Amino acid sequence: MIDWSKFADEVIDKLEDKDVVPVDAKEQSPVDIIDAETEEAEQPPLEFNYSDLRVTVENDTRTILIYCGEKSFLKCGDESFQLIEAHFHAPSDHAIDGKKYPMEMHLVHKAADESIVVVAVLMAEGEEYNDRYATILDDMPDELGAIPTPCWLNVADLLPKSKAYYSYKGSLTMAPFTEGVRWFVLVEPAYVADEQIGYFTDIYPDNAREVQPLHGRKINKTT
Ligand SMILES: [Zn+2]
Repeated sequence: MIDWSKFADEVIDKLEDKDVVPVDAKEQSPVDIIDAETEEAEQPPLEFNYSDLRVTVENDTRTILIYCGEKSFLKCGDESFQLIEAHFHAPSDHAIDGKKYPMEMHLVHKAADESIVVVAVLMAEGEEYNDRYATILDDMPDELGAIPTPCWLNVADLLPKSKAYYSYKGSLTMAPFTEGVRWFVLVEPAYVADEQIGYFTDIYPDNAREVQPLHGRKINKTT
């Protein structure tokens, strides 16, 4: 039996490690995804088999995150990845055609071989208040601490309708910038209201990383 809560602690330990990126690092994240330069790839669809959760929304002094229990899985073909936690960046880490979005959500998963798989959801400014994000964004601790969510939450409800994705090999976007991370960046953004973005940027006005060179990496697109 894998102890998932222990793994979550290890991931957090890694994220809190202040080691800098090795100078020879060639597969760093985030990247600027130029849509016209991506390669259409026949890959299995992403299936989000997430469960309803009662979680805490936590400020760890670098971002706002939620730990996701033990019963949520992402499937891609024959592979299954355990959802560990979700957290946010503003502005977005990834850029599309040179443009960053106001925010980005990262869904951090663990693969059977212990490698990390991250689903990135770009967050754009929408006309309407997004109730599905209210559970998280409306009541975040503005300094170190945790607040229980007032109601059940299913992280799958935070996803856009289309699950088309870009995929590439990269790294964590926070120290220690470990490589070997598989990225799935959803093509369609999720929309949240300007004021909801403001709740987050009041706490973290800029916790994103600059885009990194591709060094010859190809980005696939699966629709
Ligand atoms: Zn992140």
